[in-house]
Amino acid sequence: MKKKRILFFLLGIIVVYALWLGIEIVRFRTFGEPGSDKDSLEIQGSYHIHTILSDGRKTPEKIAELASRSSLDFIILVDHGAPNFESLATAGWKHGTLVLSGSELSVSRGHLVALGFRTPASPFSQIAENAAFQIKSLGGISIIAHPYSKVSWSWGEPIGYDGLEIINANSILKSSLFRIVPLLPSILVKPEYTLLKMLERPEKNLKKWDDLNRSHPTFGFFSVDAHLFYKPLVPLLQLHVLLKKPLSGEFELASRQVISALRQGRFYNAIDSAALANGFRFWAQNGQKKIQMGERAFLDPNASLHIQTAFPFDSEIRLIHNGKMIMVTAEKNIVYRPETAGFYRVEAYLKERTPLSRDIPWILSNPIFFQEKNL
Ligand SMILES: [Zn+2]
Ligand SMILES: [Zn+2]
Repeated sequence: MKKKRILFFLLGIIVVYALWLGIEIVRFRTFGEPGSDKDSLEIQGSYHIHTILSDGRKTPEKIAELASRSSLDFIILVDHGAPNFESLATAGWKHGTLVLSGSELSVSRGHLVALGFRTPASPFSQIAENAAFQIKSLGGISIIAHPYSKVSWSWGEPIGYDGLEIINANSILKSSLFRIVPLLPSILVKPEYTLLKMLERPEKNLKKWDDLNRSHPTFGFFSVDAHLFYKPLVPLLQLHVLLKKPLSGEFELASRQVISALRQGRFYNAIDSAALANGFRFWAQNGQKKIQMGERAFLDPNASLHIQTAFPFDSEIRLIHNGKMIMVTAEKNIVYRPETAGFYRVEAYLKERTPLSRDIPWILSNPIFFQEKNL
């Protein structure tokens, strides 16, 4: 009799748990359809992907096919190597997706991603500073990968790396696996839900990013760092690149369009698996002149900052100046008159039902830099 009661009790717990998890998963829905309502000057893609040419599990071909099904315009492979020549050779158009290929270098200070460089005659230096210089002299850009996780970055004198990873999905998945154990069965039904639940606010990265921007423009990157589990992981975090002309069909040209936008900071990051972020805009205006993310503008009584979020759901916009939050609003079209020099950037947070924790920036813009006119 006692055994039976215990059995019923356990069964009850399982039923309540299954119901709770079921409701949680059903409540989760992404806003918007991938690929719909596209502006030809905004393209989106996924950055930091490993293939079988280093420690990943799928071929570039297969990953491009998955990316294409998620309506991604581009993917950026960064197999390990100094550089990884075999992986570089796989770049091109595959399944209608632009496949760019860089490399993730293991250098003296940690892992450094190199993109858009001309093929070097000999391997890159293992000294971080020298490698960054070589990448730059070959026309490429360097991004500090996962600075506070996996192989942490050891900071020396700032020498002007082009970018810093703000979120690295792979490190977060490893560190928060234990925390989400009760939700694990959801991985079989809705893996995107599980991944979103695992994300954590990248507090240290955001702080460091702001510190770096005080001395040198450094752009923020959301990185999937995918080695396996590509289908839900690759579209989880996306870079939204703003082009000056629609993406060329010619590979070399298209590749230059994306790399130069990344080099100039003309992109924003978003957790698109939580809600599609296309259409977000952040720019400055000085008379007729439009200043894009990553660019410099002069402080002037006519200068204004503009934030546009035409989303059919509630979001919270935070304007950050030199690392300090100076405005929070739920408005969708914001005009702000900057009175102080420095760098301004935007974070957007989802306010409607979402598995994403409320303190994780759903959208992260790159900064616009204002300087005094008489300097
Ligand atoms: Zn790495
Ligand atoms: Zn990696």
